[in-house]
Amino acid sequence: MTRLVLLGPPGAGKGTQAALLSDRLGVPAVSTGDTFRAHVAQGTELGRTVQEYLDAGRYVPDAVTNAVVRDRLQQPDVAAGFILDGYPRTTDQVRELDGVLAESGVALDHVLEITADVDELVRRLSARALAQGRSDDTEDVVRTRQRVYAEQTAPLVEVYSGRGLLRSVDGLGEVADVTARLVAALGAAPVAVA
Ligand code: ADP
Repeated sequence: MTRLVLLGPPGAGKGTQAALLSDRLGVPAVSTGDTFRAHVAQGTELGRTVQEYLDAGRYVPDAVTNAVVRDRLQQPDVAAGFILDGYPRTTDQVRELDGVLAESGVALDHVLEITADVDELVRRLSARALAQGRSDDTEDVVRTRQRVYAEQTAPLVEVYSGRGLLRSVDGLGEVADVTARLVAALGAAPVAVA
């Protein structure tokens, strides 16, 4: 059984690696960003609620995000495991996830952090802006997303390190090499953050 969280700044490659790990480990990837973008594209009520946050590069309010994930984690396909990509991103979301898992009598197995320096992140997101035209990949919004990550999500590294769940992996290099590092890290000793 595999219950994983992927942590890492915007552009680190969480979405790409979540899909590859999903194939490799045979458990679904659950991406809050993809879910929100799908709702925006379909014009649902949730999509209308979250669009302004996505476009500004700010986090959707915890109450909204937590409800979406709680519902998703109660679906039968994730009973045997999942890879969470982009959740939790705040300490409130950590508490909510702890609660949802405890109610089912399960727990996280690993938290994988994908690291990359800021120059590389900005370079990748600028390239993605050209290739995919995502509304939040413009330079200003990318800068906001990096700042919000540093303020609200980077502290989660310490939280999970303190629980002995954290493995950190270098996100630079070939996609397949990063996947191999992540798979290797699943069997490796946890990282302690001072
Ligand atoms: P990235 O990590 O590259 O910024 P994502 O696709 O993971 O891209 O997220 C895109 C946007 O979706 C975020 O900027 C935010 O507005 C929203 N979002 C995704 N996950 C969360 C979350 N756990 N909490 C709040 N907002 C979220």
